[in-house]
Amino acid sequence: MQTELRKLPSVDKLLQTDALLPLVDRHGHEVVVSAARSALDEARLQILGGQPALSAVDLAQAVVQRVSSEIQPSLLPVINATGVIIHTNLGRALLSERAKSAMQQAASAYSNLEYTLSAGGRGSRYVHAAELLCRLTGAEAAVVVNNNAGALVLALSALAKNADVIISRGQLVEIGGGFRVPDIMAQSGCHLVEVGTTNRTYVQDYEQAIVSGQTGLLLAVHASNYHISGFTAQPSLAELAQLARRHNIPLMEDLGSGTLLDAASFGLTHEPTMQESLAAGVDLVTASGDKLLGGPQAGLLLGRKDIIEKLKQHPLIRALRVDKITLAALQATLLAYLENKAVDEIPVWRMIAANPAMLGRRARRWQQSLRKTPQLAKAPLEIVKTVSTVGGGSLPGQTLPTQALAIGVDQADALAERLRTSAGQPPVIARIENNRVIFDPRTVLPEQDKLLIAAIKHALLAGA
Ligand SMILES: *Cc1c(COP(=O)(O)O)cnc(C)c1O
Repeated sequence: MQTELRKLPSVDKLLQTDALLPLVDRHGHEVVVSAARSALDEARLQILGGQPALSAVDLAQAVVQRVSSEIQPSLLPVINATGVIIHTNLGRALLSERAKSAMQQAASAYSNLEYTLSAGGRGSRYVHAAELLCRLTGAEAAVVVNNNAGALVLALSALAKNADVIISRGQLVEIGGGFRVPDIMAQSGCHLVEVGTTNRTYVQDYEQAIVSGQTGLLLAVHASNYHISGFTAQPSLAELAQLARRHNIPLMEDLGSGTLLDAASFGLTHEPTMQESLAAGVDLVTASGDKLLGGPQAGLLLGRKDIIEKLKQHPLIRALRVDKITLAALQATLLAYLENKAVDEIPVWRMIAANPAMLGRRARRWQQSLRKTPQLAKAPLEIVKTVSTVGGGSLPGQTLPTQALAIGVDQADALAERLRTSAGQPPVIARIENNRVIFDPRTVLPEQDKLLIAAIKHALLAGA
C-alpha cells in the first residue's frame, strides 16, 4: 500500500503533464490545482481501499473531467417536453425576441434608467413600464416590483399595517412554495379577518366585518391554482367595489396570472383580465409579470393614483426594487400588446395558440426521424392525442388538446431519468402517462427539435 501511495505524483508534477498544461492556460491555475488535489485525494482513498494506483494518464484524465464539470454553470437550458407552458420549475415564461434584445441592450450600455434626459437630472426608474401599463389596462397609475409576492407584501404593509384586512375564507390560499396568504398578512403586520365559509361568502359577510377606523383593506385573491365547484358563492368584484366605496376602504385584488388577453378566445375558460378588474372598480390590482403576461419575473401593481403614490413612498419599495434588465424586458413585452402582436411574438401566447394538427405533424416528424436509426426502426413510438396545460398557477384544470410522441417502454421512469441526466445531452423533461413517456411539441421550441431527437435516440439506445 505504501509503495502504491508513493507512486502518486505531487500536485506540481501532475500539473506539468501534457494533458494538464493547456488546461491551466485555459481555465486558470486555481481551478486546475483544486481539481488536481481532489483527484489525488480520491486516488489515495482508492489505494487505502486496496485498489492499485491510477496511471499518470488516468489521473490527468480524472483532473480534466473534474475541471470540465466545475466550470459548467449549474443553471442549464433544458428541453421542456411536458406540455406545461408556464412551468414554474422550468423558469415560467420564455421571453419574446423583442424582450430579449431589450435586455441585451439594457445590459450592454448605460441607459436613462433613473435619469431625465430633458432636465439632465435624476429621474425615476418606475416611469418606464408604468405608462404602458396604464394605457393597456386603464389604470390611473402603476408601479412594478420584483414579483407578485413582493407586490402583495408591499401593498399590505403600506395600506393595512396594524389594520384589519377582510378576506373570504375560500380565498385564504397557498400560492406555492409555502407562500400562504395568512402568513404574508401576519408578516405585513395586518390583522386577518376571515369572513364567510370555504364554499360560500356573501357581500353581507364582508359588510358585517367592517369596523370603522379599524378596517384597512378588503382583499380578494383570484383562485389561480385551484377551483371550487358545486354549492358555491362569491360576491362579484363590482359588488365588493361598491361596498368598499361606501365605507371608504380600498379594495385590492391579487390576480396572480395577470393577463391582458382573453383566454376564452383560445379555447380556455375566461380568466379575468387586469383591465376587467380595474373596470369593475378594484382600487389596486396585483399580478405577476411572468405568467400569462409572458414577460420577465415582476410584480405589477395597478390602480388608483393616490394608492400607487403611497406605495412608492414606502421604504419596502427599495428592497423590492426591480432591475433595469427586467424593466427593459417588461416594456418590450408590453409594446407587443400595444401593437396587437402579442400572440405572434410572445412565446406563452404562441404556445397557447398552437394548432393541434400542426403539433401532430411535428410529433410525426420526430417519430420518422427516430425511425431512421436502424435499431429504432421498430421502436414503440406512437403519436397520441393528449392534452397540454397552461400551468404556473393559472387556469387550473384547463387543458388544450395536443398530439404528442409517446414511447411505450417497460420502464418509463428509467427512460425519463436517462433523458434528464445523460451526459453530453441537453436535459429533456418529459411526462409519464400510462407507463409511456410523452413528448408534447407544444412546449418544445422548434429550434430544439434536432437536439430533442438526438437526446431521445441516445436515451433509447443507452437503455437497449
Ligand atoms: C403566482 C401567484 C402569486 C405569486 O406571484 P409571483 O410573481 O410568483 O411572486 C401571488 N398570488 C397569486 C394569486 C398567484 O397566482
